[in-house]
Amino acid sequence: MEIETLCIHGCDKTYDGTGAVSVPIFQSATFAHPGVGQTTGFDYSRLQNPTREYLEETLAKLEGGSAAMAFSTGMAAISAMMELFSPGDHIIASDDLYGGSHRLFHHISMKNGIAFDFVHTSHVERIRERIRPETRAVFVETPTNPMMQVTDIRAVSALAKEFGLLLIVDNTFLTPYFQRPLALGADIVVHSGTKYLGGHNDTLAGFLVVADEELAKRLVFIGKTTGACLSPFDSWLILRGIKTLAVRLERQQESALKIAHWLCEQPKIRAVHYAGLPSHPDYAVSKAQSTGFGAMISFEVDGEETAKAVLHRVSVIQYAESLGGVESLITYPLLQTHADVPEAEREAKGINARLLRLSVGLEHAEDIIADLRHALAENGRLK
Ligand SMILES: *Cc1c(COP(=O)(O)O)cnc(C)c1O
Repeated sequence: MEIETLCIHGCDKTYDGTGAVSVPIFQSATFAHPGVGQTTGFDYSRLQNPTREYLEETLAKLEGGSAAMAFSTGMAAISAMMELFSPGDHIIASDDLYGGSHRLFHHISMKNGIAFDFVHTSHVERIRERIRPETRAVFVETPTNPMMQVTDIRAVSALAKEFGLLLIVDNTFLTPYFQRPLALGADIVVHSGTKYLGGHNDTLAGFLVVADEELAKRLVFIGKTTGACLSPFDSWLILRGIKTLAVRLERQQESALKIAHWLCEQPKIRAVHYAGLPSHPDYAVSKAQSTGFGAMISFEVDGEETAKAVLHRVSVIQYAESLGGVESLITYPLLQTHADVPEAEREAKGINARLLRLSVGLEHAEDIIADLRHALAENGRLK
């Protein structure tokens, strides 16, 4: 079945016998047992809930995994995943990560005795150089946030297999519609479902998806024990979002490409980072492993004043954190998502006072461009 169809019919289970076309929201904390020692398959909603199960099975199908677990946020999913590791273990991670993952690894995982090396994972040999006997996993985001660097998942998977390491891929930016890391050799896929999967800037959610059944059992145990599961209503909202994933992403990507090309022509723009531009250093790797480039663009303007003026003047685009929804959002990584990353580290990655990150939404591309043109205009008045 094609992915567009899976988005609509991914899990065709029925639970209530009414023929409801939309899976019901089973807003129940607990489920009565039919008899002593018997179960309907549902006991208590932290362990199982039909609406959440329907979503989890849908996501497992979309990613080509054997199981998926839905969490209350992307960070809850990543925190649960970290419970696979023990003090003394070592993990190699991308050096350009979502700010929340950076904060979790530096301030919580390290305190818990996990050691990290952060490297530019677009260069596989830099990962190899850091492997040591305690290394257990490689964690990559691809494309990265906010610099849009792409990691060759097949190549890193080959390396991980050689050394018996788990390969974990944060697939938030591309979603299974454009990229399926398990098929490329990853062991665990991580999502912030808050972004494209939900797609409407209205719900927080997170996922872990795996192919291996033993690993799935360990993660299910961690999930039910630590307890940050997704609520029935939020599960339903994410399911509704997924139904339109394919059409949203196609249109958002089409607009992103137009906007990226337009930005490249503007005198005040110093650099445009978008994996869909043939000038992007990882363009060939992207084409080889993904069916699309997504709709996230970051760009550098000519000065801090211009960056701040753009944030003040945009009106169709909103100045807000997050990404992947129908509304276009612009962020200032320096002060928002990456505020907790030390300055030297940030500067080295190019996350400076001139960098802006744009999540292209579903407004008409020409309206987004007009908004940016106005925001970049020399004599534009501050709102
Ligand atoms: C937003 C995001 C997360 C964290 O997800 P939340 O749902 O905000 O907890 C993790 N990874 C990436 C790439 C993200 O964009």
